[in-house]
Amino acid sequence: MKWSTLQRYLFLALCALLFTSVWSYQAFLKIERENARILKEAIPISTEAAELFPALLNLELSVRSYILSPNKTDLAQYERTINQMDQTITRLNRLDANHPIMRKLVRTEAIPRIEKATQFYDTQFELVKDGDRASAEARRYQGMQFIETFRPIDARLRTDVNRIIAEATQRSEQASSAAKWVIVVVASIAVLVLIAFIQTFRMERSKQVLIHRSLHDALTGIPNRRAFDERLEKLLEEAKQEQTPLSLILIDVDAFKSYNDTYGHLKGDECLKEVARVLKRQARHGQVARYGGEEFTVLLTRGIEETRHIAERIRQDILDLNITHEQYEPLCRVSVSLGLTSLVPEAQTTEKEIIDQADQALYRAKENGRNQIGDLAG
Ligand code: GH3
Ligand code: MG
Ligand code: MG
Repeated sequence: MKWSTLQRYLFLALCALLFTSVWSYQAFLKIERENARILKEAIPISTEAAELFPALLNLELSVRSYILSPNKTDLAQYERTINQMDQTITRLNRLDANHPIMRKLVRTEAIPRIEKATQFYDTQFELVKDGDRASAEARRYQGMQFIETFRPIDARLRTDVNRIIAEATQRSEQASSAAKWVIVVVASIAVLVLIAFIQTFRMERSKQVLIHRSLHDALTGIPNRRAFDERLEKLLEEAKQEQTPLSLILIDVDAFKSYNDTYGHLKGDECLKEVARVLKRQARHGQVARYGGEEFTVLLTRGIEETRHIAERIRQDILDLNITHEQYEPLCRVSVSLGLTSLVPEAQTTEKEIIDQADQALYRAKENGRNQIGDLAG
């Protein structure tokens, strides 16, 4: 079926809606994936970062204790803590590679401070080893200063990670709420467009039915007078342009009034249907129509000889239907008379002239006793 412009637009609108919904859903999925990634990364980073501050306190304690009385236990404790911190920092560096906010805090603030602190503790050990415990003791409060400056960083590490998690969760909620609305709006519009689409199909179908009805005869189902007029006009125009023959056969059921009177109108209707069936079968190459009442037409783009043959076959076939008509003597069965005309039209030939010629030929056939073909020559 051919689509109307409106249907094409509606179909495009449906495609656009489909595209929008797929696109929005993809965008929603992307946000969800990004949020899941942030949560996955932020939590281990915060766990690792939280170990830095207690480790720094451990270092401070080991160093202090060592300065007071140098012993292997403190030294070992210090080295163990340094190793643990190194491992934590390596893990942090690996984890936070994708995370700008944490990276800034961890790399530019936390780690440099720890490095400075460990450098300081290393020199404290050196001083004690060199026998200068007095200098080391004099500097011991500096260690606390490192601890104090690290305290706010430790707090920020915690608040930042909480903020990142809260933001990701909020984005996720906003995205799913937006996606929900997009789905509701898109689905509603899609339903409306679909209804309009279906409606146009129904309207188109009823339009086609009306057009068909306006051009067809309700009783026999073949084209009606209006369709005949249109076709004759079209075929005449073509025949004029191409200078090809155009033929018309006018068919009239003989003594049909008395058939109706004898057998009733319904039987008469059945008889007309039978006649129409024969015409359709015998005039396959032409265009059959019910001209009105018990009169039919066949339009052909063939010459006179072929048209005569077709007319003769129609006459014979209708007779062969053997529809009893007692009042119509001597045949006593239904017959038709046919009027035939065939011409290669001139520029001024009109439809009326063609119909008149066929009509006169038909009149001649009636005059000559019915059940026969009349043409202008005859
Ligand atoms: P002729 O041989 O000269 O053609 O005589 P006729 O009786 O066929 O001609 P006439 O024009 O006097 O009668 C035609 C009849 O056709 C009259 C009318 O009632 C009948 N008729 C027209 N349309 C219909 C129809 O749709 N159904 C039926 N049953 N009869 C119809
Ligand atoms: Mg008639
Ligand atoms: Mg008649």
